[in-house]
Amino acid sequence: LLEVRNVGKSFGTLRALDGIDIAVQAGTFHGLIGPNGSGKSTLLKAIAGAHFPNSGSITFDGRDITTATPYERARAGLSLKFQITAVLPELSAYDNVLLALQSDQSLWSLLSSRTRRRLNGEVMTALERFRLADRADDLAGELSHGQQQWLEIAMALAPRPKLLLLDEPTGGMSPEERRVTGELLQPIRSHCALVIVEHDLDFIKDICDHLTVLDQGKVLDDGTVAEIERSTRVQEVYTSRV
Ligand code: ATP
Ligand code: MG
Repeated sequence: LLEVRNVGKSFGTLRALDGIDIAVQAGTFHGLIGPNGSGKSTLLKAIAGAHFPNSGSITFDGRDITTATPYERARAGLSLKFQITAVLPELSAYDNVLLALQSDQSLWSLLSSRTRRRLNGEVMTALERFRLADRADDLAGELSHGQQQWLEIAMALAPRPKLLLLDEPTGGMSPEERRVTGELLQPIRSHCALVIVEHDLDFIKDICDHLTVLDQGKVLDDGTVAEIERSTRVQEVYTSRV
């Protein structure tokens, strides 16, 4: 589904990504791990089109998207939730999801009642999936931190992407919220692949099929969860620096 080939990205003299190769198969949950500053967020942003790599290519769903705009990537079925929370706190949970589906609100009054009904159904399905249906009318800013994170995932999933990119979605969550997040993500497997960055190794081993370990902008190791658990290279980096 996604193929990143030899991708490099520099910020000035800093080599944030240095010849990255990864492949994500449809239907798989793919974890990206590695120490702080190893390039995980930079890689997700390159995939989502938040910045362009200096070298290499990115293919998504059979199409070269290396220089596609974020909007073109979203239309092709890519969806990203950034590391920093980005719900609009002054809008209701419902309106946040509606915005994710129908970003041009000025068109709302022109939509047919059938289209509005369809959008309403899609918004409520997205909220229900993350246990937020009863909070639909509450301001997003009044939700708990964990619920805001769920709302953002619901927003990212509402347009039915083929691949969802999540950057530390459980940051700041309680262990229980984290466990529930893993549970709520499982059903998307049938129609959406996942690339997820997390520092919590137990969480990521639990939900992912495949792991890529980054270190200083390079792929240190890549394989199934069982393979990575046995990897001595990974153990060395994690015991010496994390
Ligand atoms: P963390 O686990 O802390 O989120 P990360 O693996 O996501 O780390 P990145 O955010 O990808 O790391 O950063 C990789 C390197 O690139 C870091 O040294 C960072 O300081 C640098 N970097 C990232 N974005 C920029 C930018 N816009 N301008 C300059 N340097 C940047
Ligand atoms: Mg990061």
